[in-house]
Amino acid sequence: MTIDPCSVDAQRLLSLDEALNTIYAAITPVDGHERVGIKAALERILAIDLLSPISLPRERNSAMDGYAFRSADLKQGEPCSLFEVGISWAGKPFNTLVKQGECVRIFTGAVLPEGTDSVIMQEQVQVNGSSIHLPATASAKRHVREAGEDVCSGEKLLTAGKKLNAADIGLLAAVGLSDVPVIRPLRVAFFSTGDELVAIGQPLSSGQLYDSNRYTLQALLQNARIASTDLGVVRDNPDLLENLLTRNAPHYDVIISTGGASVGDADYIKQVLDRCGEVNFWKIAIKPGKPLAFGQIGDCYFFGLPGNPAAVITTFQQVVTPALQHLCGMQPTRAWRIKATCLHAIKKAPGRLEFQRGIVSQNAAGDFEVHTTGEQGSHRLSSCSHANCVIVLNAECQGVCAGEIVTVEPF
Ligand code: AMP
Ligand code: MG
Repeated sequence: MTIDPCSVDAQRLLSLDEALNTIYAAITPVDGHERVGIKAALERILAIDLLSPISLPRERNSAMDGYAFRSADLKQGEPCSLFEVGISWAGKPFNTLVKQGECVRIFTGAVLPEGTDSVIMQEQVQVNGSSIHLPATASAKRHVREAGEDVCSGEKLLTAGKKLNAADIGLLAAVGLSDVPVIRPLRVAFFSTGDELVAIGQPLSSGQLYDSNRYTLQALLQNARIASTDLGVVRDNPDLLENLLTRNAPHYDVIISTGGASVGDADYIKQVLDRCGEVNFWKIAIKPGKPLAFGQIGDCYFFGLPGNPAAVITTFQQVVTPALQHLCGMQPTRAWRIKATCLHAIKKAPGRLEFQRGIVSQNAAGDFEVHTTGEQGSHRLSSCSHANCVIVLNAECQGVCAGEIVTVEPF
């Protein structure tokens, strides 16, 4: 059995869980709030617990089009006839007490008239002028929505830290709230490092490549909770790097870099971070993405991601995303993982937790099947583009046989 050579290091590598716990312990969630209109609140993080100002439904109402009546008028196992005394419309209630032997025509959502406690569907009655004939099978207290059965007035409607979804927005409107306090957007800046990087639009000389990571990062950071800033490209020069970090750190909650985080002669991230801030760790036992720095410059958190494009995406998804969730007060949520049959053998040396890009699908029987995107070199950006999941292989795993069940994290 060959051990993954990259898992052997003079410095003990952190497991992903250790790295995340270190990050959660180091990061203090931001506490700045702002009020936003509910139309602009989708995917924002609720800043405080919200109590409902009203009950839902606010009043007892009908779940059906039919007739509202008093259950006391039902005779066990016998049909009965009731006299229709009026109509209760949605938005226009019938405001008179309904007495013994009477019923009221009622429509869905209309308030149940005083005295009634039951509704029978219109399809179940026979109408003869004002005489409404209920069958022997009519039952008491059906098709009624009680006041407060969805939400009670004063009850907790939504919990602080919730990422607001479409139903939450509707719920806020349903209780009459036009705006909500949410966590202010995180200020996140990012840059690339590398002497070999060229801006798109410029010609390439030998040894050069286009800077793709900044565009990937910009896209990964695009959501309602983040205001991101592109700081451009920095050459492999420790003084330039230090200058950029110290100049920008006071203005951002988080700075993310790609490249230069490893141990090559042109990799200055750790050295510079040691000089102008603190490094919490810089190697974690995952593949791709072993060289990864986490630190702080003043109050600004710093993530030094690897340079290889596939490693950027993996470390962003596995490390930066939960860290940003924690920072904006959101309960970090692990991505969903499912079990799938692996359609071919996968080679893996034990040592590091591996995230192999894969394509997962459901077969005719509804079972999940997965195959990798092929070679997993962390420079292969197109394989990230083809993938719709990662196959998660734990550190001890020594490879997978065709037909084996594996853990898959869909994107
Ligand atoms: P580094 O971590 O700086 O040693 O970079 C590792 C690999 O990623 C090298 O092959 C780099 O050329 C490549 N790389 C670094 N930064 C970028 C970038 N911004 N866009 C595309 N590739 C990059
Ligand atoms: Mg580099």
